[in-house]
Amino acid sequence: MMATPNPAPTLGDPLTWQPPGGALWSGRWVDGTASFPVHDPEDGSLLGYVTDATEAEVDEAVRAVAAAAHGTHWPAWERREALTAAAALVLERRELLTGIISRESSKTVREAGSEISRAAETLRLSAAQAGQLTGETLPFADTPRGEGRLGWYTREPVGVVAAITPFNDPLNLVAHKLGPALVSGNGVVLKPAERTPLTALAFAQILLDASVPADRFAVVPGSGSRTGRAVAGHPLVDLVSFTGGARTGDAVARAAGAKKTLMELGGNNAVLVLADADWRMAARAVVEGAFGVAGQNCLSVQRVFVAAPLAGRFIERVAAGARSLRVGSKSDPRTDVGPLIDEGEAIRVGEWVEEALQGGAVACAGCRREGAYYWPSVLTDVPEHARLMTEEIFGPVVTIHSFATVDEAVTRTNATPYGLQAGVFTRDLDQAVTIAERLRVGAVMVNDSSDFRIDAMPFGGPKRSGVGREGIRSAVEAMTEPKVVAIRQQSVPTD
Ligand code: NAD
Repeated sequence: MMATPNPAPTLGDPLTWQPPGGALWSGRWVDGTASFPVHDPEDGSLLGYVTDATEAEVDEAVRAVAAAAHGTHWPAWERREALTAAAALVLERRELLTGIISRESSKTVREAGSEISRAAETLRLSAAQAGQLTGETLPFADTPRGEGRLGWYTREPVGVVAAITPFNDPLNLVAHKLGPALVSGNGVVLKPAERTPLTALAFAQILLDASVPADRFAVVPGSGSRTGRAVAGHPLVDLVSFTGGARTGDAVARAAGAKKTLMELGGNNAVLVLADADWRMAARAVVEGAFGVAGQNCLSVQRVFVAAPLAGRFIERVAAGARSLRVGSKSDPRTDVGPLIDEGEAIRVGEWVEEALQGGAVACAGCRREGAYYWPSVLTDVPEHARLMTEEIFGPVVTIHSFATVDEAVTRTNATPYGLQAGVFTRDLDQAVTIAERLRVGAVMVNDSSDFRIDAMPFGGPKRSGVGREGIRSAVEAMTEPKVVAIRQQSVPTD
């Protein structure tokens, strides 16, 4: 392993920017023993090389972070100041980050730009949690055995957090793990997605420049099956915070063993459009919610249940909206829908659509592929057993179904293994609340699509959508544990 001292802060040109090392651990940039190339998925151009961390290197990284987390003092006010500075630096380096995200991931330049604003917000919210790391006094006098005692609990960091992240929001989802973990006083080892390690390394530089102590965190790029597994399974890791697919979540849970885990997994989200709804507004929201980031979004709208009297007009409007979207290069600011992360993913999406069409579905828009691009697609009459109905498509495809009764729409919405978010369009608030109570999901958006989120919300869902909740405050709660201190007052006689 070759270590390089932390260099002076540089902003850099997004077209030529390279991290000072292929990984970061033990408080410095390093190049591990092996490396792997990072390509632009759109044109295959080589963007750089990063470390492919081995088990031994992961061990070194985790041990160094654990030593700092357990052995050094980093007061909460300094954590707040560092994360506040990091939020400002994210915005200052917007151009650089937009360039890196829109080249190594499948996001368009416009989509990368909005992710940067979100990531700064995530860090701002994380910084604010420094003032919320409180506890409470305990009711010792409530029991005879508590006589003559007083005490309280405070929240303590769990220790070392392992953060494992996906490719589709390469900056904000990293910020969602590192922000809460660091502000709580933990150390963090980040294993970013194989496709998007450069964004993670650019973010690491921002944390260093914002005065986050260099030994409090590490970034270990590499494959999921080797590096990710070693990080999740390391005995000095106290909590694994994972975002990714449900099947990968199973593998991470096996590697982690009996550790605390937070899992943000997939979705197959539904929107319900009731007979009294503003159906034009609903159609607009569905087009935005289904096709943004080419559908590679855990909150994407995948199924829409629309009241039968509206169905014809609604389907026509959504199909027209899908056809009006401009499919094209990520670097063109006019592009609405960019490519999928690779051609293999676009082929898979095409196969699932074909399966539905073979089963009797009707194509109303799209259903067409060229290389890694898949056109925004609208289908009706999709059979219930098709994978478009039961699995997460993670591509630009929406299925629309008419319903006769609200009860039917609720039952069909709940009939998948997932439960992330849902949307309900209606003018009847009472009806909306009743439906929200019946849907087995983590959040219900009334008069909005399933795709809406602010970063302060408790975030996640039941069933195969995850374990626990992220969203800054919820993540801080999960990444800390109560510690009780009880004092026996020697002047008070006890039995
Ligand atoms: P993925 O599951 O393929 O990979 C996610 C991460 O896990 C990557 O860093 C990968 O290297 C790592 N990994 C893979 N195998 C591993 C193993 N055995 N042990 C440890 N780590 C391992 O996901 P992806 O394709 O990058 O992202 C898409 C998925 O992420 C979708 O299912 C999407 O719904 C989900 N996602 C969920 C949320 C949410 O908040 N609920 C947000 C974004 C994405």
